[in-house]
Amino acid sequence: MTLKTFHDSVEPLLGQIDFTFLKDNRICFTCLGRIFAKLGQDGDEEGLSNQVRGQEIKRMKDVPDPTEPEDCWLCEGITNDYPRFASMAIEKMKEWEHDTFLLGSKFDAEMVEKEELIWSEISGEFSEPIKAEFNREVGKLVHIEMGKEPEFSKPDIVAVIDTMYESVNLQISPLYIYGRYTKSKRGIPQTRWPCRQCMGKGCSKCDNTGKLYQTSVEEIVAQEVMKYSGGKDHRFHGMGREDIDALMKGRGRPFVVEIKEPMKRALPLDKIMEALQDPDLGASATEMRPSDNDEVVRIKSARSDKQYMISGIIQGDFSEEKLKEVVASLGEKTIDQKTPTRVKHRRADKIRKRKVKTISILELSGDRVAFAITAEAGTYIKELVHGDDGRTIPSVAGELGVEIKVEELDVLEILDSDDPGAD
Ligand SMILES: [Zn+2]
Ligand SMILES: [Zn+2]
Repeated sequence: MTLKTFHDSVEPLLGQIDFTFLKDNRICFTCLGRIFAKLGQDGDEEGLSNQVRGQEIKRMKDVPDPTEPEDCWLCEGITNDYPRFASMAIEKMKEWEHDTFLLGSKFDAEMVEKEELIWSEISGEFSEPIKAEFNREVGKLVHIEMGKEPEFSKPDIVAVIDTMYESVNLQISPLYIYGRYTKSKRGIPQTRWPCRQCMGKGCSKCDNTGKLYQTSVEEIVAQEVMKYSGGKDHRFHGMGREDIDALMKGRGRPFVVEIKEPMKRALPLDKIMEALQDPDLGASATEMRPSDNDEVVRIKSARSDKQYMISGIIQGDFSEEKLKEVVASLGEKTIDQKTPTRVKHRRADKIRKRKVKTISILELSGDRVAFAITAEAGTYIKELVHGDDGRTIPSVAGELGVEIKVEELDVLEILDSDDPGAD
């Protein structure tokens, strides 16, 4: 049926095409058929092979005799070698767990030029590049042999076959796992923090660890994941971050951990989460599931309100009544925050406007006070309380006319939009 479709569509063309170029530059049946690859494609059907197209053309018209593929002026035998190239790719890919793959290839520039010459001397209108045929045909063989699905947008592995050097180069896509982390120990940064002195190489200042902080949420989570996935390296994408000395409570902060060049992709996430419940670790993760790079983008751009608990010591005379008044005046208030003194060395000095959604007194005993605060993403909470020498206006300390020494700051909840509990 497809053969007839091909026959009918190619027949009126053959009379107008001059094949004499092929007298001195003899090519194989497959390369001949590929000049008309776009004819005889039957909807979703596989269609004919280019080799069958070539045989049909030879039957219909007196074209110069095709050669064996090995003697082909154009492909030099490559089109006859697809099973061998497929085996090479399979041999390399099978060491890496994957569900999907994409096959690519590299060809000699001279071969590509020869093909373009054929298009200009004979016809290029219905042709297909040898590279496209190669990727499709070898990809088909790999699919049949390994049972893995070809995937164009987000393959687990890309195998690029270099037909000149007979080598296969693999690009292993990262593995992405989503989760939410809580932090139960202070002094743990979210991500790896290299030693500033040696930039991670290891020096006397950091006891040759290369690190300013001995661990991080990133390392705690990634190490557990990599016990099962293997992999070369990791990255950690959090939906914002809390201070190093702040705890992260509640449902936890959304993150995506990215594992570079994982050996395995189907992971026992329940086991991993169970291991991460160990309180000695200082950080724990829940709600873990497979993710992708799109979610990294979503997480990095999310602007969620957050709930905090912040405690401190009020230094100076104040009345409880006045404190309650000040707190009541700050709810729903938009505040101006100059870049805090503590981060001025690494951020541009500018003014942020942020909205305090709610603020209430959680605890007041003597000069010890604790507040519950819900605020917009990016609000400097410590500065909202202590005022940062007038750099945040208004602030609790500023309005109360005293100093407040902040002791602890914890994030109680991230109210991200995916959270059904958030509004
Ligand atoms: Zn050929
Ligand atoms: Zn160092």
